[in-house]
Amino acid sequence: MLQRRNTARLAGSIAALAGALAVLAPRASAGTGRELPPRFLGAPFSVMSLTVGYPNAGFQLRAKKLKNSEILRVKDTSKDNTYAHPALVLMLERSAREVARVERGSLMMVGDLSRRDGGPLAGHVSHQSGRDADVGFYLMDVQGRPVVREHFTPFDPNGRSRYERGLYFDDYRNWVLLRAWVTDSRAGLAHIFVSSGLRWRLIEYGKKDPRFAPYVPEVELLLKQPPGTSVHDDHFHVRIACPDNLAELCHNESRLGG
Ligand SMILES: [Zn+2]
Repeated sequence: MLQRRNTARLAGSIAALAGALAVLAPRASAGTGRELPPRFLGAPFSVMSLTVGYPNAGFQLRAKKLKNSEILRVKDTSKDNTYAHPALVLMLERSAREVARVERGSLMMVGDLSRRDGGPLAGHVSHQSGRDADVGFYLMDVQGRPVVREHFTPFDPNGRSRYERGLYFDDYRNWVLLRAWVTDSRAGLAHIFVSSGLRWRLIEYGKKDPRFAPYVPEVELLLKQPPGTSVHDDHFHVRIACPDNLAELCHNESRLGG
């Protein structure tokens, strides 16, 4: 009798524990496509921000939100898609601060990161796992004064706006941004996507300026126009690499055919 009561109590405890786990880890339930390997359900991973899967087939948990500040503004159309792994959010904030330090009044315009829980995002193939961000170019007028536009606007390889007269690609501040990214040892970059024409322009500019020339080899490796995707002539798309401690969960490159 005693044994039966204990067994019943044990069964009750197991049921309660299972219930608690289901509450704690709703995304670990079967059939959602968001299952995690068991060791990632407990501490320390259960309290960490996790980037899971591929850039084009993934999700995230406990992501960090990128917020507006005096040096950084999220486009209105992107305000629901401002979540990412903290490594990316903090890198964006550090780089915006660096550009504003070098040239006062600089404001970084940021587009989509990922949705709060990640997953497919309208208008993008990637941006699913909290490691991708769209960042507007720094712009200037014909006198070289900083200009801000609330929308992304495309530029030709000569650095002229395709649609707005008198609006130019600010080679100098865009290079300060690239230098901030490639020297940011805390984040770890995987790619910076930009159109082939602007890539060429930036590399030629960097080679001639001693402040940037030492970083040209690394920028050459990271900057690319990925084949088969839309031309990135109105923003940089920056992707960070998987954090080292999440190698089992996180895939750096997009899933083929995904
Ligand atoms: Zn993008």
